[in-house]
Amino acid sequence: MSYVFLLDASACSGCKACQAACKDKNQLPLGVLWRRVYEVSGGEWKQAGPAWNNTVFAYNLSLSCNHCVHPKCAGVCPVDAYTVRADGLVLLDSSKCVGCGYCVWACPYGAPQYDEAAGAMTKCNFCYDNLDLGLPPACVSACPLRVLDYAVVQGEGEKGYEGDGMALWEIPATEHPYPMSDRSRTGPRLVIKPHAAMKLTQEKFLANREEVHPQQTSGWEEAPLVAFTLLVQMAVGGFWAMLWLFHDAPQLLSMLWIGLCLGAGMLASFAHLGTKRNAWRVLNHLRKSWLSKEILLTILFGAGWLVTLTSMILHTNLFILNWLSAWIGLVLIYGMSRVYRLPAVPVWNSWRTQARFFISAALLGILGVLPISTWTHVPVLEWTLAGCIVILLLGAQAAITIIRPLSFKWGRIQLGLILAGMIGCAILFFMPGWFGAATGLAVFLIILIEEVLGRWCFYQARTWPEA
Ligand code: SF4
Ligand code: SF4
Repeated sequence: MSYVFLLDASACSGCKACQAACKDKNQLPLGVLWRRVYEVSGGEWKQAGPAWNNTVFAYNLSLSCNHCVHPKCAGVCPVDAYTVRADGLVLLDSSKCVGCGYCVWACPYGAPQYDEAAGAMTKCNFCYDNLDLGLPPACVSACPLRVLDYAVVQGEGEKGYEGDGMALWEIPATEHPYPMSDRSRTGPRLVIKPHAAMKLTQEKFLANREEVHPQQTSGWEEAPLVAFTLLVQMAVGGFWAMLWLFHDAPQLLSMLWIGLCLGAGMLASFAHLGTKRNAWRVLNHLRKSWLSKEILLTILFGAGWLVTLTSMILHTNLFILNWLSAWIGLVLIYGMSRVYRLPAVPVWNSWRTQARFFISAALLGILGVLPISTWTHVPVLEWTLAGCIVILLLGAQAAITIIRPLSFKWGRIQLGLILAGMIGCAILFFMPGWFGAATGLAVFLIILIEEVLGRWCFYQARTWPEA
């Protein structure tokens, strides 16, 4: 058996009694709405001779967490704070939450809501306490038109509710009404009796966006993640560059640089957590959560770095361990990209995410170690090889930016920086006499700015789920 919400959208007046009752029962703070009433409108007035014809329409859609058949929120959570009950209810234990915000990205309906004061995620629990007492959820009780209801569906093929309606978990997301995601694969347990306007092909608009998405932010919240992903990728790329390209560079100095990047990245990631005291739980969901796996791989790579550094200080050659650490680093970059391959975020759910991350790692890795390398004599072959690799990587980065720009405005600036970086590289690598730490540093800084900008656009390109 499973609980489902029923909504007769054809008769919903948009009074928001359900939204208010939910907020009241669950004592939700300002900005947190477990149930939201979406006001959709569209159409226009057109003059035809002396008459005005209109195609104007409007409807309301009351939505909360849909207690989905395949709840992505539960799958991605690194601390395993979600449980799926036998009756289908998807419950969140906020006391375990580390406040990473990952479940919000994974949910196509924006259902998990962040409580700023508590530093933790919260979510509709279908008023399971009411259900256990034989009472309906607060939102259902509050609906004055009796258009919001709930039912128990016993099994496949069983209806469990009166009247018609689209059982959304049984039909493809492309047929779900606007503003619900048309790419969701979660199977929302919601039955909607459609409003006639839902089938219109005219463009539909959300009329109360500010009300239903009060948590939409400036985007600065993602800055620690920009720092974490770039710094860790730079550390991994630097490790490879040190082992492979710049053998003759001062390796201890390169290793310290790599450690600095890694440490700063990990600190930025830690600073991003809403409830830091729960950080010890982040490996709890290694079986399913790519975020848990990413954190484990970062720790393993960090351990590998420490062993390599120690072996350098002690002048022992731990060749196998060095290579093992380097390969763990590569798996880490892959793991990082998997964190972002979410069906709920189409712009991230593409091979380009993997490509972007590997290119950033190689570019920043080589260019980060470069100024250190210029202090010593680097054989011409290694130097030329490094130059060719960097220019090829910049070309690939430019191609991805042109094919699928994340931002038209910033994309052009990014391309300008890539071009400047290419010219700088050509001077640095192919014009003898211009070698030097200062030129290397200048090229590194140009590409660093380009990469920060690109990563910033990457995070900003995640459009807020409409519903
Ligand atoms: S609506 Fe979102 S938060 Fe609720 S169960 Fe589905 S995926 Fe999870
Ligand atoms: S730990 Fe992260 S993914 Fe899990 S509930 Fe909290 S915010 Fe969501």
